[in-house]
Amino acid sequence: MGFASYFNRDIIALNKRLSSNSDNQIRSILSNHLICIEFDEQITKSREANICIELLIRILCRFYPVITLRSSINEASKYISKLQKLAKSVNSNIEFNDTKKPTLIISAISKSSSQKEIPHIFLGSDGWVAKLSQSQTLTFGDTSNPFGAGMAACIAASNVLRFVFKEQLKQPLDEEVKFSVYDFSRTTDPNISIDEIVLNDVTLVGIGAIGSSTVWTLSKLRKLRGNINLIDHDHVEESNLQRYILLVEKDKKKWKVDIAKKALRQSNLSINPIKNDWAKFVKEFYKEKCSSRIVAVCVDSTEDRVRIQSSLPNKILNAYTDGSRFGISRHPNFNKNVCLACLYVPNAQQRSKLEIIVEELNMKGHEKLIYQYMGTAKRIDHDFLAIFCHKNQISIDQVKEYKNKSFGDFYLEMVCGYKMLEFQEKGQRAEHVDVPLSFQSCMAGLMLAAEIVLESLGVNRENLKDVSQWNVLDKLNEDNPSHYSYIKNVSKQCICGDQDYKEVYELKWGE
Ligand SMILES: [Zn+2]
Repeated sequence: MGFASYFNRDIIALNKRLSSNSDNQIRSILSNHLICIEFDEQITKSREANICIELLIRILCRFYPVITLRSSINEASKYISKLQKLAKSVNSNIEFNDTKKPTLIISAISKSSSQKEIPHIFLGSDGWVAKLSQSQTLTFGDTSNPFGAGMAACIAASNVLRFVFKEQLKQPLDEEVKFSVYDFSRTTDPNISIDEIVLNDVTLVGIGAIGSSTVWTLSKLRKLRGNINLIDHDHVEESNLQRYILLVEKDKKKWKVDIAKKALRQSNLSINPIKNDWAKFVKEFYKEKCSSRIVAVCVDSTEDRVRIQSSLPNKILNAYTDGSRFGISRHPNFNKNVCLACLYVPNAQQRSKLEIIVEELNMKGHEKLIYQYMGTAKRIDHDFLAIFCHKNQISIDQVKEYKNKSFGDFYLEMVCGYKMLEFQEKGQRAEHVDVPLSFQSCMAGLMLAAEIVLESLGVNRENLKDVSQWNVLDKLNEDNPSHYSYIKNVSKQCICGDQDYKEVYELKWGE
C-alpha cells in the first residue's frame, strides 16, 4: 500500500484524535477508501482552480495511500500526469487506482459531475472567499488571489478526514461553506486588490509546518516586492514531511530557509535567509536593537515567543496550532494592545519541560544527559540508547532504528506514538505533546500569510479581536472560528506592564 515513509507521524496525530491505539486499524480504514479528485477546463483557465488543486494534492498525498485523478477535458492526460508527478514527489509510495470505484469525489468542476451516487465535496473560490458544497457544483474566480482557493483545499481536506473516520471522529461534515480569509466572515469578497504588494521589513520566524505554508501561500502571489527575513536554524527531517506542505521528499536534509528562499524566487522580494535562531539574529543583524517592523511568528515554543516579544519589534502577528485548533493572534502595539507574552505568561505551577520528558522516557537520574540532546543538533547515539534500554529493561535491538535520529523525533515517536506502550505496560502517551494534522498547520500558515499581506497593504481591520481560533475538525458555524479579546497584562507579571520595556518601545516606535 502507498503509505508515505513518514506516515508514523500521522499515526501519532490521529491517535490523539481517534482514541485508538491501533496502527493497523488506521491503515486499514485508509486503505479501504479511494479519494478521487476531479477537475475540468477551469484548471487551464482559472489560476484559483489551479492553486486549489495543487494544494489538495500537496495535502492529501502525504496521508492517503491511494488516490485517483479524473477529468474529461481535451488534454486531461497531460494535466493528470503533471499532478501525479507532484504527488509522487511528495510521497513516492503513493498509488493511483483508476479502476476501483471511489468512495468520495472532491470535485473542482463547474458543470454536472459523474457518478452522482458517490458522495461529493464540490469546491470553488472567489478571491478571498473559499466555497464548498456537498450538493451543487461551484466555480473558481480568475483573480491572482490564492487565499480563498487555498482555504477551500484545506477545508476540503478536513471534510475528507471527517468522512473517512466518521465512525471514530463522529464529526459532521460541512454542507455549504462560504468563508472569507479576509476577515473570517461568511460574506462576499471584499474586493481588496492584491495586485501589488510591498512587504516592508517583514520577518518570518520559524519555517516549520506553519511557516512553510505561509511561504507556499506567499509564493503564489504574482506581484510581491519589498524585503523579508526568513529565520530558522534547522534542516529538514523526514518526519517534517508529514505536514510541511511546501516540502517534497528530496528536500530532506536541506536547510529549511533555503527551501523557503527557493520557493519565493519568482517574486521580486529581496530575501534574507538566516540559518540561526531569533536571539542570534537580533544580536548579529540588529546589533541587539531589534528594529523589525512586522514580525510573523510561528515558532513552536512558548519561550521563543516570549523572547521575540521582549525584543520589541513594532508589530507582531502570531500563528499557532493547539490540539485540533489553530489560531492567529495580532499584536499591533506593545503599549496599547495585548502583547504576545500576555498570551504565554508562564504559570509558576508548571513543571519544566525537562522534568516531564525525563519522566515520560522513564530516565530519572539522567536529566543532564537528556538536556544535552534537547534542542541541539546532537543525534541519538549508542550511549544514549544503552542508558534508555537499561532504564526501560529492553534490548538495544528494539530501538536500533532510532540511532542518528534527532532527539525531537526520538521523543515524539517514543512517547506520543505507541513505542513506549509496546515496551512496557506503564508506558504513557504524553498529554501535552501533539502532532498537528497537515491541513491544520497549512490553514494556520495560510491565514498568517493573509495577515502579513493585509498588514502590508495597510488595511484597517480594527474590528477584529486579539485572537481568532478555529477547531478544524468541527463544522464551521457562528462560534467556529471564534474570536477573543484578551485583557492586557492580566497576570501583572507580563513584560508589557514593565515601565522599562514600555519606554524602550515608545522610544523606538514613537507610539
Ligand atoms: Zn503582555
